[in-house]
Amino acid sequence: MSEKGKSKTGVAARSENKSKSIVCRNCGNKIETVIAVSPSGKKRIRRICCCE
Ligand SMILES: [Zn+2]
Repeated sequence: MSEKGKSKTGVAARSENKSKSIVCRNCGNKIETVIAVSPSGKKRIRRICCCE
C-alpha cells in the first residue's frame, strides 16, 4: 500500500526535475529553446533568455 504512494511521488518528482532543468541560471525564468537550421543544414538549439 505504501509502495503505491511512493512510486506516485517519484514520478511527480521526476517530471518536476525535468522542467527545472530548463530555467535560466541568471534570472530563473523559463528558457525558450529554438531550433535554428543553418544554411549548411546543421541544426542548432538556441536558448533565448537574458544571458543569450
Ligand atoms: Zn535569464
